Amino acid sequence: MPPPETAVTTEGSEPRTAPRPEPGSRGDFAVIVLGSGISGLFVALEARHLGPVLVLTKGSIDDCNTRWAQGGIAAAVGPLDTPEQHFADTITAGAGLVDPKAARVLCSEAPERIHDLVRYGVAFDSLGGEVALGREAAHSRSRILHAGGDRTGAAIETALSGAAFDPRITILDYTLAARLLVERGRVTGVEAVDLESGRIEVYEAPVVVLATGGAGQMYSHTTNPEVATGDGISLAFEAGAEIADVEFYQFHPTALRIDGAPPFLISEAVRGEGAVLRNLAGEAFMPRYHPLADLAPRDVVARAIVAEMRNENASNVLLDCSHLKSVDLAVRFPGISAFCTSVGLDMRRDPIPVSPAAHYLMGGVRTDLFGRTTLPGLYACGEVACTGVHGANRLASNSLMETVVFGKRVVEHISSGEGGRADDDPNTRQIVLDAGAAPSHTAVQTLMWDNVGIERNARGLGEATATTGSWRATSEALTRPAFEERQMANLARLMFVAATAREESRGAHYRSDYPERDDQRWLRRQVFRSDR
Ligand SMILES: Cc1cc2nc3c(=O)[nH]c(=O)nc-3n(C[C@H](O)[C@H](O)[C@H](O)COP(=O)(O)OP(=O)(O)OC[C@H]3O[C@@H](n4cnc5c(N)ncnc54)[C@H](O)[C@@H]3O)c2cc1C
Repeated sequence: MPPPETAVTTEGSEPRTAPRPEPGSRGDFAVIVLGSGISGLFVALEARHLGPVLVLTKGSIDDCNTRWAQGGIAAAVGPLDTPEQHFADTITAGAGLVDPKAARVLCSEAPERIHDLVRYGVAFDSLGGEVALGREAAHSRSRILHAGGDRTGAAIETALSGAAFDPRITILDYTLAARLLVERGRVTGVEAVDLESGRIEVYEAPVVVLATGGAGQMYSHTTNPEVATGDGISLAFEAGAEIADVEFYQFHPTALRIDGAPPFLISEAVRGEGAVLRNLAGEAFMPRYHPLADLAPRDVVARAIVAEMRNENASNVLLDCSHLKSVDLAVRFPGISAFCTSVGLDMRRDPIPVSPAAHYLMGGVRTDLFGRTTLPGLYACGEVACTGVHGANRLASNSLMETVVFGKRVVEHISSGEGGRADDDPNTRQIVLDAGAAPSHTAVQTLMWDNVGIERNARGLGEATATTGSWRATSEALTRPAFEERQMANLARLMFVAATAREESRGAHYRSDYPERDDQRWLRRQVFRSDR
């Protein structure tokens, strides 16, 4: 466990930078990790016994999705729970497409990974001497560990970045990974840009681990911070790796919706404590949509909210906590409560205006049970990876756990020296994506929100595809915005292809022109690889 005095705070602290390797030195690293969220830092910590580890991250160390995670991390550690029950819930949530082997790994190894996080200094909340367990949608048991009330992600990021203050780990912040280096079919390093000097550097290592997180910034409304532009998926696709399940994007039903305020997440755990969604007429509408009412799966709740908003021609519905007398909301949800106060709402009394926002990408760089991609030398873990545990829809709080379960396996596999790569998927489609960059982040976000959002159909997808075809190649400038516009354009094209092909509705992918699930044609994953 790291000594507490080495811990850095995620708020208000100066970014901590290790000295850069000499310009042009290429470094002498055992492992290069791209990203400094939970998956990147966990891998770096676990891998430091293998030799020097380099972590590249494009913002400050704590600028990542992890820092914002609220509800918690799922593990069957309660007395009434079992990994088998956790597995069953994960399978159900994934709407037929969860890889059962990966889900079994996730659920059976989760309790041990909680011990690892505690060892690195994460202080999970407890109640009466026992670990406190929250309940979230589609979990049949209370199994969500949390820290700092609803500041679980910040607590994890603080603990891991404190522990990563280690001479064996070099963290270069404000450093953009711009290209994976591939020699004779093997990833050998990364071309990176020091965003402060604009200098291009090359770093080499026998192993590169992608931990670049999600892609919420692809959409106009999102709970994700600005770094979440899906870079790792485009980098891996360009290098030749297989990409899977990108049509499955989860929208969180309840992000705060107030003009001028960011779409701050109002965790599902608030509904887990009994909060109720109401339309503007005051009706608790969820029982009309699903037997689990407010704790129905996220896609069901998100679509129900959209339907209610449409009926009332409104831009939000309301989350009502006013009847929750047995919970001290300011103690259980200090972050949410403080944010509500900052926008003039008292969550104990005032209904909270909420609407859905882009939240989590189930798909990503296809990996096997050891985090290997289909490219030798390239591993992936965390939100950028597609291990198959989420299928068509993520079970809440499985994502943080997935990062550490598979992060641990990545390092164990690297240590074994076995190397190799994930087997190719027999049904991979090879495709060519146009090379043009998006004219702006906003252009991608609007196109994605309107056409490959909560509801999709062939007409919108066709128009969106045509629009991306008109995007022109721009300069190869290696500024962060220009780079992101190229990556976002690529990922948008990939998502359009996948969403257009899947002519059914399943999990988070809802086609208004194909509203039914079609197991005969579509009980399978879509996997893509570049045809270059
Ligand atoms: C508001 C919110 C609440 C959430 N709540 C929960 C929850 O309660 N439970 C749960 O299980 N999950 C939750 N999630 C999801 C979960 O937080 C993420 O899936 C998880 O943190 C992803 O971790 P990661 O390490 O893979 O990615 P991240 O934490 O996003 O880290 C990615 C890192 O990669 C870096 N990066 C990206 N591109 C580049 C590049 N080109 N070059 C260099 N660096 C790059 C980023 O700067 C960042 O450091 C939540 C997410 C959000 C946004």
